[in-house]
Amino acid sequence: MRLRTQCLLLCATNAAALQLQPAPQLILLLCATNAAALQLQPAPQLIKRPHQQPRVILTTEQVEKLERSVAAALPAVGQWAAFGGVVSAFTGFLWGWAGLPAAGLYASSVASGTAWALAWDHIMPGGGRRVAEMMGGTTVGVPCSVRDAVAKTAAAAKMPAPAAYIVPTKEPNAFAAGRGRDRVVAVTQGLVDLLDRRELEAVVAHEVGHLKHGDTGRAAQAAAMLSGLSAAKRAGDRMVANKRKEKSDASVAAALAAAGAASSAAGLLLRLAGSRRDEFAADAVAAQFVDAGALAGALKKIEAAGAPRDKLHARAGAYAHAYFSNDDGPSRWLRTHPTVEARINALKSGAPPGRAPPPAWARFAAEAVAESVS
Ligand SMILES: [Zn+2]
Repeated sequence: MRLRTQCLLLCATNAAALQLQPAPQLILLLCATNAAALQLQPAPQLIKRPHQQPRVILTTEQVEKLERSVAAALPAVGQWAAFGGVVSAFTGFLWGWAGLPAAGLYASSVASGTAWALAWDHIMPGGGRRVAEMMGGTTVGVPCSVRDAVAKTAAAAKMPAPAAYIVPTKEPNAFAAGRGRDRVVAVTQGLVDLLDRRELEAVVAHEVGHLKHGDTGRAAQAAAMLSGLSAAKRAGDRMVANKRKEKSDASVAAALAAAGAASSAAGLLLRLAGSRRDEFAADAVAAQFVDAGALAGALKKIEAAGAPRDKLHARAGAYAHAYFSNDDGPSRWLRTHPTVEARINALKSGAPPGRAPPPAWARFAAEAVAESVS
């Protein structure tokens, strides 16, 4: 694909220089000549089929950007596929167990709850800023070291710099939030006081990594899915309470409540699995743009500090997955984050288990899209 793109670019350049209408035979000749001059293999598909009018003009950067977009979309597609699988499985189970009314109630409750949460998230303006301010963050008095770290790591990641926020709390932590122009990176005063400049940059780069991978948008989607699954449980609980008074259709209400509870648990596990993978991938970004040792040092210092969770922890239920450091849950199976030990080991290995490169079929799809849009 890159070879073909380079040839086509050379074609266009030569045609323009000669002030000719792009004649296919001449262009193909120039194409082969330039390819030979560049010691490249000629593009056989162009030479063997001269009747085809070359018209694809895409830069290598454009193709790579398209490939990155496809790769970035894959986790979200997987998330929706898993959600659809959970809902379908429980709907089918309810249909067989308690009949069509229970299955219909379950599916409609999940769909309406998820749609409402998604609409709320998309309609409300200022996504990232709203979350940062809800956490007590402000743009006033942000230390220069934080502003510099945000600008520097965003530039390294080739993305617009998000807004920098400071949260005036002793808890050493950080988070990223928002999408598009509403993206923010927030750090706490406790983190600024605890870490040296390099370690602070590494933590900020980790948060920038979340933004670069689209984790914040996907986390919002996961929260909407969980909200929908919880809506089915709430509807079942309400029906159970009412049916105790009416003494009718109790089995449908009980089945709906049970399915809502079980599918909520399944949805929670799916979200946890995704958030741990995202942490490793964001750590990999920090290792790439700053230093793996600095990030490992920051993780050790935060763990050793044992600082009490205060302002951020108060919001832990909704945004725990977004924090740089989170010690939620006594059981390792319910943690949103990998353990500090696992993160440091991954950094030491030099090949953190981050986001996998796009599979061959994704690259093929990107190339097919590139050809179709040209
Ligand atoms: Zn993180």
